[in-house]
Parts: sequence; structure tokens; C-alpha cells
Amino acid sequence: MHELSLTQSLLDVVEDYARRDGFSRVNVLKLSFGRLSCIDPGALEFAFDIQSRGTKAEGARLEFDIRPAVLYCMNCKQESLSEGFQALCPLCGGEDVLLAGGTEELKLLEMDVD
Ligand SMILES: [Zn+2]
Repeated sequence: MHELSLTQSLLDVVEDYARRDGFSRVNVLKLSFGRLSCIDPGALEFAFDIQSRGTKAEGARLEFDIRPAVLYCMNCKQESLSEGFQALCPLCGGEDVLLAGGTEELKLLEMDVD
């Protein structure tokens, strides 16, 4: 379960900010990642709940901004959103399709702190 190492690095980042900015607790953490990045939001919340105990992020709410999968077609030069990777362009049926988005790594977008 790689969510454990993801939340650990997230908490390390939060602690760095806390030392620098001197806040006492985190209310909300806004995170983003790609739909196809194999991160399970439920597993992430579960791991966060356990690992944040005793840190400034204990009890913080997680919000997710999940980036859609984006296909780029070499044939019609158009981008289209997709539920997942597919080998055919939904616009023209072309077969030269690249994945142009949706695999973004976990990123901390915003923090709401006291
Ligand atoms: Zn196309």
C-alpha cells in the first residue's frame, strides 16, 4: 500500500511549513493527483488518519482535486477528456493517441491552518 509512504512525505512537508510559518494546527489539506495515478483516496484518508496522530495535521480534513485523464490525438491534434486510457481517439477514431494528463503525482495544493 504505497499510500503510507505518500502520506508520510505529505506530513513531512506539513511539519516543514509548521516550523517555518509557526501555525499550530491544520484544518484542511487540499491535494491533487491524476485519476490514473493509482492513488486510492479512501486508502489515503485511512493512512493519513493513522499517521497524522500526534502531528499538527491530526484531525485535518482532506480534499481531493482529481485530475482527469486527457488523451491527445496525433491525427486530429485535439485533446479530449477520458475515464481512462483508451487506444482510439473519441473524436476521430484515430489510433495515434497519447496520454497527456491524468497520471500526475500527489501534490499539496493548499492548506487551511490556524
Ligand atoms: Zn483524433
